[in-house]
Amino acid sequence: MKRHEQQETKKALLIVDLQNDFISGGSLAVHEGEDIIPLVNALLKCPFDVKAASKDWHPEDHGSFAAVQGKKPGEMIQLGGLDQILWPTHCVQGSHGAEFATGWDTQKIEKVFYKGIDKNIDSYSTFFDNGHLRSTGLLDYLKGKRVNDLYFAGLATDYCVKYSVLDAVKQGFKTFVIADACRGVNLKPNDTRDSLEEMRRAGAQIISSQEVLESV
Ligand SMILES: [Zn+2]
Repeated sequence: MKRHEQQETKKALLIVDLQNDFISGGSLAVHEGEDIIPLVNALLKCPFDVKAASKDWHPEDHGSFAAVQGKKPGEMIQLGGLDQILWPTHCVQGSHGAEFATGWDTQKIEKVFYKGIDKNIDSYSTFFDNGHLRSTGLLDYLKGKRVNDLYFAGLATDYCVKYSVLDAVKQGFKTFVIADACRGVNLKPNDTRDSLEEMRRAGAQIISSQEVLESV
């Protein structure tokens, strides 16, 4: 690079798991999950350098499914050597529940990253599985595009958004959580609030969609 050229800040918008099974009517519906869709569409109109999304994308015999384990959702097991909460069957590859929720502008998404494809380990983060053994490819993609700043929206604040954000901070990205464009599962009533606090303490900035619309 020539000395007088300024290093440009490149920004990416990442939409996490905005899929049918995570909104009303889905098998693992996040309360008011669909309410973020108008905000996501507004954010997608902003001039981000990269617009990408993740999909939870499980084989039908995924080990995080309560039915596969003959147990109830919410029970804990060991999976891939890690504590694993059991979920209702959700986001099975090729099913309606795994499709992007209707109403958001997926045409603007240039690349989709798939997670949870190994039945023997779950993957909350859009970067790595829960054991940090396998990458989804997102990290290399963002590095290839020379992205510095990451903006997260999607579902669910207290699981897949949180773990994605914590990984993003660890990987050295300047990381923003667009809080009103996320919703949480809230297995415990304060999980969304607590997870936002955890992300903030880790080094992420918690902002509103309005702030993004005015600044990006
Ligand atoms: Zn899942």
